[in-house]
Amino acid sequence: MDTKHKVIYDFNFSLIADFFKGSERQGPGSEDITKLALQFIHDLPDMANIADLGCGTGGQTIFLAQNLKRNISASDIMPEFIESLNEKIRKAGLENRITTKNISMTELNFPEQSLDLIWAEGSIYNIGYQKGLKEWRKFLKPNGYIAVSEATWFTNERPQEIADFWEKNYSEIDTVSKKVQQMQDAGYTPVAHFILPEVCWWDYFNPILGYCDAFLQKHNYSEEAKSLVEHFHYEIQLYDKYKAYYGYVFYIGQVNSETPACNETNAIKDLSIR
Ligand code: SAH
Repeated sequence: MDTKHKVIYDFNFSLIADFFKGSERQGPGSEDITKLALQFIHDLPDMANIADLGCGTGGQTIFLAQNLKRNISASDIMPEFIESLNEKIRKAGLENRITTKNISMTELNFPEQSLDLIWAEGSIYNIGYQKGLKEWRKFLKPNGYIAVSEATWFTNERPQEIADFWEKNYSEIDTVSKKVQQMQDAGYTPVAHFILPEVCWWDYFNPILGYCDAFLQKHNYSEEAKSLVEHFHYEIQLYDKYKAYYGYVFYIGQVNSETPACNETNAIKDLSIR
């Protein structure tokens, strides 16, 4: 298959894990950005329950634990990332603060209304922004917070090449105003949103560019490994060319207890149809 037309899900999961496991972050972001997002979250109780979903190798997990000084349950679908995070937790001496779990964000089993904060930096796209916001709301306590970062269009129109790329890779990409509206529709007060600066993308891309050769060598220049590297080169090239049209945006919301939960809204709709 033409690399340009491959999406990340076409690659073998363990190859992707191997590609990323040495990287600090698996998406655009930085400590400054995590810190900025945190500033919109107030009054977390001392014994708060925090979930970091799609935590990857835990760049933000360690930072959250150190800054919030509260307990965090971090989870990811890739066992290799969890292993790498476990190593970081040991090194940072945070075993008492962070627990890790190899579980999908689509199969979470937190008790209802048990969490004070859900964090999903660069990862909610795996369940889908709207679905994640709706499904996870039940796990949050009244007035609990959600903080996610998500690919977003900055313009109303865009060139065909980049529109096609995102249509194939994540068709839920949309404009800031739509994403904010969707957050409100899912039963949250949209507390804040802000665009991640370009430097966050290069902080994510540059280390990747730095280890591509070693990765290819390790995998004996297999077709699959070459194809994965080409896929990332293409993504980086597209970002460089079209960064005026899209980027990552952090969205922070707070459960709005006056809004019925989504399934209740659906039930009301169902009744009105009858
Ligand atoms: N939060 C990290 C990682 C973002 S990359 C950071 O910002 O650096 C997206 C992460 O979502 C990856 O670690 C990937 O393994 C994870 N992921 C993909 N599908 C998932 C799923 N269904 N459930 C949980 N995690 C998933």
